[in-house]
This record gives sequence, structure tokens and C-alpha cells, in this order.
Amino acid sequence: MIPDPVAAGQVEPPLAGEGPLPAHLLPDTAEVGPDGRLSIGGVDVVELAGELGTPVFVYDETHLRSRCREAVAAWGEGAAYASKAFWCRAMARLVAEEGMSVDVSTGGEMHIALAGGVPPRRLVLHGNNKSDAELAAALSAGVGRIVVDSFDELDRLERLVPHAGGGTRPAVWLRVTPGVEAHTHEYVRTGQEDSKFGFGLASGAAGAAVARVRSPGSALELCGLHVHIGSQIFALESFAHALGALAELAVPLDLPELSVGGGLGVGYVEGEPTPSMADWASTVRAAARAAGWPEGVRLSAEPGRAVAAAAAVTCYSVGTIKDLPGIRTYVSVDGGMSDNPRPVLYGSGYETFLPRATDASRPWRITLVGKHCESGDVLVRDGQLPEGVSVGDVVATPVTGAYGHSMASTYNKVPRPPVVFSSGGSARTVVRRETYDDLLALDT
Ligand SMILES: *Cc1c(COP(=O)(O)O)cnc(C)c1O
Repeated sequence: MIPDPVAAGQVEPPLAGEGPLPAHLLPDTAEVGPDGRLSIGGVDVVELAGELGTPVFVYDETHLRSRCREAVAAWGEGAAYASKAFWCRAMARLVAEEGMSVDVSTGGEMHIALAGGVPPRRLVLHGNNKSDAELAAALSAGVGRIVVDSFDELDRLERLVPHAGGGTRPAVWLRVTPGVEAHTHEYVRTGQEDSKFGFGLASGAAGAAVARVRSPGSALELCGLHVHIGSQIFALESFAHALGALAELAVPLDLPELSVGGGLGVGYVEGEPTPSMADWASTVRAAARAAGWPEGVRLSAEPGRAVAAAAAVTCYSVGTIKDLPGIRTYVSVDGGMSDNPRPVLYGSGYETFLPRATDASRPWRITLVGKHCESGDVLVRDGQLPEGVSVGDVVATPVTGAYGHSMASTYNKVPRPPVVFSSGGSARTVVRRETYDDLLALDT
């Protein structure tokens, strides 16, 4: 994944305000009672945290489903959920029920997709270094599209396909690096195409790959090209720009399909916008027309974060409060970089709030840290909380549904938190909490 623009130093996350948590950062079904308590899917969040323990990822199932529906409404058959954002069997089932295709980039993600009942035809296999075993598994499962990323992969596929059985040639896309660097508020053309992903456009690699897959006797059927310019993109023109860069090569090929990848941005903190799937799709559609693609080309997109991020909040318990006068106040919780590595990896910003007083103003500036043996184990630098928070309180961070659970580790042998889907007044655990015995399960 291309790092967040925040990490690249292009934008500073806005400082959290002292007002109440902006309601739009909470999942769709979030409700705040007269007493200030938060419910998600009709379930009281503090009570749920009390029952299940903390940390816990609480997902709004309705929110996940409605983002999937928006994606399908915007992109039709071309809507593919990027599983790396958040993946488990229950999510695979949900996505399949909502009619989305699924972007998987490893054998492991593919395994979970199949375990969740995603039809193989609806899988799009990505990856810059797919192994023989992954490609063979994809071919024998009959995945819908393989997104070829390198000449070595073409060699591998050509070796594997005659052995895969069946008469039809596997349908592939070629991933092209268009030489466009996505920024949050602007785009720039990069002179060189310094990326481990895809075939470069300017170098001629993309053209050469097209010629090879289209040569007579090819084992593969070229159905389209794929570009993915990054993640957490707010400036929709960046997608248009990528299509513009691709057009000279792609339009004359007259391929039936074209994928713009994922990357639609999501607001994490006050003041950040969240562009809609519909705007994304209409911008891309207009750009494709303007760049010369015919009306009938099937456009695809692969939203991950935009489906899952705002669907969840993470609840933690406060264990220690350390006030360093004149420096800062550290509020330590029972998770940290093991359940949300994004702040450490990308410098990403989050909000903090108290689900027992969700709409309270938050005048108290704190730094929310985890329990890991690293000074860098920061969840929220300069977060805001209401006054009166004490040890034992449940604090929460919103918009943690993407790249939290999926990037979680057991660093310091901290067991990974459970995942709960809440809807219609009840909550079901879809991934249980890891146990100390699980931590030993792989030791021989
Ligand atoms: C990561 C990734 C996505 C999803 O990105 P989001 O920012 O989560 O939407 C889609 N397609 C590809 C190829 C990716 O690598």
C-alpha cells in the first residue's frame, strides 16, 4: 500500500477540537442517549465492553452493508471490496451477500474469501509477488481475474496454465503504474515510476506486457488494465489524472474492462471530508469518457477503507494516567500499536472520546498511548477527552474499522482483540479474543 499522505509529510492531521466528537465520525446507526451513552446497532457500547472486556472492535453491521450497497450502486458489477482493509469469515459472508466482488492479494486472503462463501468468479487476485502455489490455487479455484504485476509472473502463469486444466484461458488484467502520485489535495506527475507494483508506463514495460499477453498462442486472455494510485485519496481528480496518463496506451487496445483500484479517502478526524462512492464513480466515469474510453467499458473499483473504516470504533480501558506538568498527560490503555499500528506507521490522526459521555465537550488534552514497550506506542497524540476521565473508564477511538484489526499483531504477546458485529439490538462476536494459549498454539 502506498503510505498515507500524512506519513509522507504532505499534510498534518488537523488538531482535535475541544468540542464534542463530531457525530459524523461515528458509524451510521450510532445513537447517543439522553445520558450521553453511545449505542451502535442498538447495543450499549460501554455495557458491551464490560461484557466482552477490552480492547474490542465494535462494528456497525448496518454501516458495512450500506457502504457495500453504495459501492454496488456506484460501480455495479465492477465493485470489489479490498479485503486487506478488514477481513474475516463474517466479513467475507457479508460482502458476498451484498453482491460485491473481492480483491484479494495473497493466498491467505483468498482462503478466507472462499471460506466465507465468496464465489471464486468474484475474486480478483492481486499481489506483486504471487507464488506458484498462490497462482496454482487461483487457477484451480477459477478466480475471476488475475491482476498480473510483473514479467516473472507472466512466466509463472505461462508455465502453470497448461497444467491447470480446462479449455478457457484465464482472464487477466495488467497492473500499470501510471506515473501519477496521489496527494490529498493535489496531484503531481512523477517523472520516474519508482514502485514495486505493476508495469511502468513511461519505461515501456506496460506496452511490452500488453504485446506479450496479446501475442498469438498466449495462454492468457487480456481483459483490461488496472491502476491503483494510492490510498486515502481525497482529491478525486487524482483518479482522473491516472486515467489520462493511461489513455494513450489503453484506449487503442479497446479492452472491455478498466479498473481504477481503491484508495477513496475517509475522514478520521474533525474537518476531514469523506467523498462519496457516487462522486468517485461519476468523476472516474467522466474522466474515462474524456480520455477516450468508449461508453461500454466496464469500470471497476476496489474500495477497502471507504467500506470498513468508519464502521467501527475501538473501545479500550484506561489503566494509568500520568500527568507530566508542563509536558503532557499520558492516558494509557490496554491495547496500542498491536491493534492499531497506523499512527506508528503513518503518523495517522484519530479522535478520542468517552462512550459514557459521547456528546460531552472535550477540553482535556491528552496523549493516548498503549501498553507496549515502545515510546512510539502512541494511539492518539494530542487527543481531547472530557474532564473527569479516570482509571477504569472506557475510552474509544472512532473510524478504526480499516487497517486496524487487519494489521494487528501480537507484539509483546498481547492477544489480539475480538471483533463484534452489532445490529438490530444485538451483538455477535465474529472473531473471538485471542487467548494466552493461542499465543502458544504454533510453538512446537
Ligand atoms: C490497498 C488496495 C486497495 C484498497 O485501498 P483502500 O485505500 O483501502 O481503498 C485496492 N486495490 C489495491 C490493488 C490495493 O493495493
